[in-house]
Amino acid sequence: MANKPKPDELLSNINYKPPRTQWTDTPVEFKKGYYCYAGRPNNLEYISLPHGRKWSSTDDDWQLVDNWKEIFLEGMENLLKKFRSFRLFMDICVRCGACADKCHFFIGTGDPKNMPVLRAELLRSIYRRYFTISGKLGKIAGARDLTEDVFKELWYYSYQCTECRRCSVFCPYGIDTAEITMMARELINLLGCCTDWISGPLANCYRTGNHLGLQPHTIKSNFEYMVDDLEEFTGVRVEPTFNRKGAELLFVTPSADFFAEPGMFTCMGYLLLFHKLGLDYTWSTYASEGGNFGLFTSNEMMKRINSKIYAEAKRLGVKWILGGECGHMWRVLHQYMDTMNGPADFLEEPVSPITGTKFENAKSTKMVHITEFTADLIKNGKLKFDKSRNDHIIPTFHDSCNTSRGMGLFEEPRYVINSVCNQFHEMPENTIREQTFCCGSGSGLNAGEIEELRLLGGLPRANAVKYVKEKNGVNMLSCICAIDRAVLPPLVDYWVGDVDVCGVHELVGNALIMEEGEKREIDLRGEPLPGMEEKEEED
Ligand code: SF4
Ligand code: SF4
Repeated sequence: MANKPKPDELLSNINYKPPRTQWTDTPVEFKKGYYCYAGRPNNLEYISLPHGRKWSSTDDDWQLVDNWKEIFLEGMENLLKKFRSFRLFMDICVRCGACADKCHFFIGTGDPKNMPVLRAELLRSIYRRYFTISGKLGKIAGARDLTEDVFKELWYYSYQCTECRRCSVFCPYGIDTAEITMMARELINLLGCCTDWISGPLANCYRTGNHLGLQPHTIKSNFEYMVDDLEEFTGVRVEPTFNRKGAELLFVTPSADFFAEPGMFTCMGYLLLFHKLGLDYTWSTYASEGGNFGLFTSNEMMKRINSKIYAEAKRLGVKWILGGECGHMWRVLHQYMDTMNGPADFLEEPVSPITGTKFENAKSTKMVHITEFTADLIKNGKLKFDKSRNDHIIPTFHDSCNTSRGMGLFEEPRYVINSVCNQFHEMPENTIREQTFCCGSGSGLNAGEIEELRLLGGLPRANAVKYVKEKNGVNMLSCICAIDRAVLPPLVDYWVGDVDVCGVHELVGNALIMEEGEKREIDLRGEPLPGMEEKEEED
């Protein structure tokens, strides 16, 4: 962000005073730093989204097709028929306001239209107008005509929701505003208005299997760098295999784990762990992305993107699938994969080849989360750690929205961290586990052009980090999500300072004893381990 305001300046701009006009009479203002760039026509064409064109979200004329209203309303009718939850969420809100102050974007911006109840109302008012009898009464019944301005407003706020589901935890009716945003985005896509930061990675994924557009030879050479670094830091030479038919397991993780720091350090942790176990597994250069931007686009897109994981497992003839540290990959896998792309009857029910544990929870999807796998190894005494190698790290743990609210994975990461670190401090109770605060950049919002919005959306998360930094000296924010690993470093740097971000398996890799009596003087970041040289000499 050019001329980035100082944190104090940004804080002082937050204004919770509502406008004097009714929300329906308050026109949307497209604020710089708060709206995404429009998707490019070639990318939209590549992923078969209709009506791609050159346009900009700040244009007066969005060049919508002549019958855009008809397309939108027909699409809405289809979604209402297809998803009972959508109709229910359109009907049952009693406007109690319990969700109002629970959204990080409302807390960070003070914009009333970022209150979940009002965000949903943007679409609900259209629903009332065209799909209910009382809606014929118009404004008095909370109904609005679908005009271009109403559509623009819906677009603007649909990309100011990270689909994190925090609001749903507090709603007495369980209304999931994330799902309402998903429906709104699906309708937006019918008119060729997908954003650049979502449609670009999706097009890459169609082309190469991953959002970054990495081709097989690039993936392999990135691994060669990591393997060399690992050998230099640990003295251990690992030998990952790719696209190997007949391997027992397929391992799938976000592409950022083998492309960018700090994800690469997490990846080094996986590599060391699997080598130590002698695991019969393979990476795939085709199913080379766990993340699924289809989740932010449409149900059909999500299904298509996800299908490559089962397709690759079938092609390679593996027994089951192990999945890495990723956020929305796990929301898709846990909530939708089985019915969307399954049943995966060609796979076996997952059993750990090391401990013999049956992962009952993955009986149907045939896919196990890496922290469940590692926690089971630790519980069964299969791994030895030198926790003191992590003594320079005082971690806390950020529950990623998707793994916490999306799948209830609370204990395993904490159990693993506590097994490999001597110190650990939780952030305040109302900011973790089910009530965790979003990083502010999920669901396709990690776009550079909306950095100011993202910094404000991430403020509640950063604030909790600041609290444990000041109270407990925390210097590491650990997490199990690739988007978090990408967006939390600049967020924490801006609001907190001197706190790093890591994946849980980086901490595992640091502490893991590969051979009895081995010396480790450097951590997985290539940094000297404080005091370790002296300690090894004393030993
Ligand atoms: S908490 Fe639920 S019922 Fe209450 S206003 Fe929010 S969405 Fe509506
Ligand atoms: S899903 Fe998250 S981002 Fe969206 S309205 Fe609810 S709390 Fe806000």
